[in-house]
Amino acid sequence: MDIVTKSVKVDVIVVGGGPAGVASVRTLTAGGARVALIEKTRFPRSKPCAGGLSAGAVRLLDYDFTTVVREKVNELRLSYKDKKPVIIKAEEPIALMTKRAEFDSLGIEAALSTECQYFVLPEISGIELRRDAVELIYPGLRIKGNYLVAADGAGSTIRRLISGRPKGAFGVAIEADVDANEVNTQEIRTKVDFGFSPGGYGWVFPKGDHYNVGLYSWNSRHSRFVNRPALKQYAQISLGEVNLSDIRGFPIAISCSKKSMGSGRVLFVGDAGGFTYASSGEGIYGAILTGQLAAKSVLIGGDVVNNYRATSSRYLRRCGLNRAFSRLIYPTLGVSYPLFAARLNSQAMRASMSLVDSEKR
Ligand SMILES: Cc1cc2nc3c(=O)[nH]c(=O)nc-3n(C[C@H](O)[C@H](O)[C@H](O)COP(=O)(O)OP(=O)(O)OC[C@H]3O[C@@H](n4cnc5c(N)ncnc54)[C@H](O)[C@@H]3O)c2cc1C
Repeated sequence: MDIVTKSVKVDVIVVGGGPAGVASVRTLTAGGARVALIEKTRFPRSKPCAGGLSAGAVRLLDYDFTTVVREKVNELRLSYKDKKPVIIKAEEPIALMTKRAEFDSLGIEAALSTECQYFVLPEISGIELRRDAVELIYPGLRIKGNYLVAADGAGSTIRRLISGRPKGAFGVAIEADVDANEVNTQEIRTKVDFGFSPGGYGWVFPKGDHYNVGLYSWNSRHSRFVNRPALKQYAQISLGEVNLSDIRGFPIAISCSKKSMGSGRVLFVGDAGGFTYASSGEGIYGAILTGQLAAKSVLIGGDVVNNYRATSSRYLRRCGLNRAFSRLIYPTLGVSYPLFAARLNSQAMRASMSLVDSEKR
């Protein structure tokens, strides 16, 4: 018996409904493109992420997300191995704290408020790359587009299907939640502690009814230090005797390379393209930015990968420099920490000002 295969034809297929995919869908549909958004998970779904939004990310978001902001951070304690504290205090927020399950559900709603077609589908069975189109194959369904935007995260299936393996450089992070009732009220509730994990830092981010606590290293060679026992130890040092729930680890894609941005009719955005700042692991900004830039490049037409490389060149440079900076700064942090903290302090002050400006828009 023949299995009937349905087919759908659109201008652009977007795979992945995280911040990068949502940004692409919104920009593409605003430009008049017919879009199919494909997700493999039903929302709400959780995503390992501390959910901190920087001023840059806030500036780029083109829908109202204020309902999912759990805390505004005006005070931050920096330290090195829990010593040499530097307190950053700003009248206006330095960052906004969200819970990714809530932020991403709102994102999907924002994407679905456009004219896009939405599909929740199991893993892709195959991909056909043609001179004039890209086709994704699912059991009983083929989706064809003139272009494909791969926004399917750090372990990108699209990249694996095209190049045979996930490519690029990765950082590592592990995180958990702590019930706020278990924590003695502290004056400064947002903390970043460098040197606890090699090549990175530990963090405590407040989220209203809970805290998110985690460890990050920009270099996956240090993954043996970014594990459950280390996280428990860090949580104990920074929050006291607390129970950790929902412990989860995840790679962070930091390659930021021109080469991995796409080829032919396929563009990689967000974590699928490796667009996270290596020094901090901040990826939501890069995801939204590259999602929007890739979409604009498709709308321009012609050699879309070249358009994308050209319009992203500033971010690529910054992201690349940030990786070089991480390579340089983290091994020397034992001596350079005071200077580093002063630099972060002035950056945070500038960020807090621009966050206010963008909130006022
Ligand atoms: C522990 C941790 C803490 C972090 N904290 C922060 C932070 O505080 N601030 C910050 O800015 N960044 C942070 N990051 C980085 C940030 O989470 C990512 O950079 C960001 O989520 C990238 O967005 P994205 O849309 O590219 O990918 P994702 O958010 O990973 O979204 C990818 C989407 O694609 C879907 N998908 C995957 N495969 C398929 C498939 N085959 N078919 C269809 N759909 C698919 C997934 O279900 C998912 O919805 C953190 C990362 C980690 C691991």
